Amino acid sequence: MNTKELDNNYIMHTYGRYDVALKSGKGCTAYDEDGKRYLDVSSGIGVNSLGYCDDGWVKAVSAQAAEIQHMSNYFYCGQASRLAEKLCTLTGLSKVCFSNSGAEANECAIKVARKYSFDKYGKGRDEIISLHDSFHGRTVTTLSATGQDVFHNYFFPFTEGFKYADADIESVKSLISDKTCAVLIECVQGEGGVNILDKDFVKELRQLCDEKDILLIADEVQTGIGRTGKLYCFENYDITPDLVTSAKGLGGGLPIGVCLCNKKLEDVMQPSTHGSTFAANPVVCAGANYVLDTVADRAFLDEVNKKGEYLKEKLLKLDGVKSVRNLGLMVGIELEDGDAHEVALRCVKNGLLIITAKSLLRMLPPLNITYSELDEAVEILAKTLKEE
Ligand SMILES: *Cc1c(COP(=O)(O)O)cnc(C)c1O
Repeated sequence: MNTKELDNNYIMHTYGRYDVALKSGKGCTAYDEDGKRYLDVSSGIGVNSLGYCDDGWVKAVSAQAAEIQHMSNYFYCGQASRLAEKLCTLTGLSKVCFSNSGAEANECAIKVARKYSFDKYGKGRDEIISLHDSFHGRTVTTLSATGQDVFHNYFFPFTEGFKYADADIESVKSLISDKTCAVLIECVQGEGGVNILDKDFVKELRQLCDEKDILLIADEVQTGIGRTGKLYCFENYDITPDLVTSAKGLGGGLPIGVCLCNKKLEDVMQPSTHGSTFAANPVVCAGANYVLDTVADRAFLDEVNKKGEYLKEKLLKLDGVKSVRNLGLMVGIELEDGDAHEVALRCVKNGLLIITAKSLLRMLPPLNITYSELDEAVEILAKTLKEE
């Protein structure tokens, strides 16, 4: 059996896959099992932040794998400690808790928020308000946190205590009560359709939360690690959340999640309140340390912004493109007509790996993509939109 047949026979059908089996890659370029070349502007849904097999990243990860590949959390780990220090220094936040994925990072933030409230106010102040069209993960609790009805199916009973607001301050206010302990937002909703939250709304939300000792949680699983031209997207909003979750691009291609908290929350979690066997794995942390050393650089981040603007300008000139929304290299493309998924399928046939978000085409290219690669991506999309 070939790869596709094996997949069909032995892997549960939880994914609608493109008709491609990828085998290797370098930078922005991937090759399938038949040797066909693709330009990839999806970077594994924003995970391969430095593209495929970046030389420095491969070296860092390989060296760590050859030295010590795992130790349990009974032991101190240099790579993890250094990564934690870097994350806190760069964000001004206080402490971190590592995990293995975005959903787990959000689980941790939810636990910290509820325990902070329990410790201070006792039982019953446990509700979390999230936004319509949000996406926070696939665990039973993060599905609950996700503000889209389509995710609240089959797996009953879901975790209680979530309410869903529109992205405006009056809607949030109308849901706040004595029971509210946190508000959970994505500054730019990724899966929900590259929806960029209004700056005034986020600032008002910060103020409202401060007044009521309600914690503001920013899910930066997709927006973090330079994606929007800042290390974390909240910096675009001139606020600092109480809790920040990060995952996708942080490991440069290896599974990692992290929940960061501010000073007020740094001692909420105590021994045996949380943990994970694989979390803070040294090989993964070596990759993340390399990514952070590369991305957390003013000149690098300025380039992300410039590339985002460059790409947007070019996309807006294409026949068939109605509008483009982006913050840095997080890009949503609204089409004049036609189904985005169907256009994405044809792009893949034409050698461009691109994804969708709701009814939009979505690009999350490697942050170090070159201008000529951006040109090529736009050319393939232009050609694809002209077909038929
Ligand atoms: C992808 C994503 C998640 C879930 O991350 P996993 O690593 O798949 O668990 C959560 N929140 C946001 C905003 C995401 O984009």
